[in-house]
Amino acid sequence: MKQIILTGDRPTGRLHVGHYVGSLKERVKLQNSGRYDEIYIMIADAQALTDNAEHPEKVRQNIMQVALDYLACGLDPEKSTLFIQSMIPELTELTFYYMNLVTVSRVQRNPTVKAEIQMRNFEASIPVGFFCYPISQAADITAFQATAVPVGEDQMPMIEQCREIVHKFNSVYGETLTEPQIVLPEKASCLRLPGIDGKAKMSKSLGNCIYLSDESEDIKKKVMSMFTDPNHLRVEDPGQVEGNPVFIYLDAFCRPEYFEEFLPEYSGLDELKAHYQRGGLGDVKVKRFLNNVLQAELQPIRERRKMWEQRLPEVYEILREGSKAAKEKASQTLHDVRHAMKIDYFENDNLLK
Ligand code: ATP
Ligand code: MG
Repeated sequence: MKQIILTGDRPTGRLHVGHYVGSLKERVKLQNSGRYDEIYIMIADAQALTDNAEHPEKVRQNIMQVALDYLACGLDPEKSTLFIQSMIPELTELTFYYMNLVTVSRVQRNPTVKAEIQMRNFEASIPVGFFCYPISQAADITAFQATAVPVGEDQMPMIEQCREIVHKFNSVYGETLTEPQIVLPEKASCLRLPGIDGKAKMSKSLGNCIYLSDESEDIKKKVMSMFTDPNHLRVEDPGQVEGNPVFIYLDAFCRPEYFEEFLPEYSGLDELKAHYQRGGLGDVKVKRFLNNVLQAELQPIRERRKMWEQRLPEVYEILREGSKAAKEKASQTLHDVRHAMKIDYFENDNLLK
């Protein structure tokens, strides 16, 4: 069986370090592993419109921003097909058929949808399109016959929902769709990176992000103002590392060589954590170290991004070509789906029989 990846991001803002450790870094690794036959990376503008219907300009402007972030992180258009969701109308048609295979109460039980409805204050007035986005996401994944979907932990319920739709479709209409596997980051700290404000998730919609495109000075300001253990008031106080964003970021980003380079008096992260827990290690020192680590990780990304910013017409062409290739792939699946559902009326003379 062909090994195929489909994943993507909503163009609701520039991408941040949570996206990087939660999904982008893994994608680039998989892309370069040579283990995949096809890789599709989608800018999910139609999904972004489900909760931004009144802000189409915001979605439109962020398409190029997300594309720049992709290229900056090392996604390579020679190896990965980068495309824009709404340019593939086949996805909408698949969604329409899949909607019949899912109940309202099933979507209502989805914990991510529940949390997002609350976060957006949609309780009293949920847009139908937003409510249905897990179904449309199943259409995106299956249209490309994806076998692997590298995403952050918040996407687990979506992949589960997709697998249910695949089972249901295949059992009603015959084997047609491929069941995807979720690919999560290995490190626990990367599953759901918290915001710099200590909130559970760094999210474009919450404004608590360090962006991949942030300038060096902004990164430093954000790191130095980060939320830490609120009970660690004086340097000599014992501090807590669990749930402390500064240490979670270090878990996510730190490599052993950074200690040698920036903090040689410690052998590694375990020793630094132990000192913090014992007391006697100030937040400022840890934050300075984290700042050095983030600067080292993000500088090459920012520089590649600046290089691509000078080549916007080329980026536009990459998206145009990618969307064309993605449309071909999705239309093949739609063809198979219509055939399985026996609604391919003019492909044969079944209607006459
Ligand atoms: P929005 O607030 O508009 O939903 P978002 O910041 O949640 O934006 P998405 O485009 O919904 O970003 O998510 C893109 C991908 O990044 C998904 O695979 C998601 O799991 C992952 N992701 C998003 N935020 C984080 C995070 N804080 N930690 C780890 N992974 C994340
Ligand atoms: Mg999201």
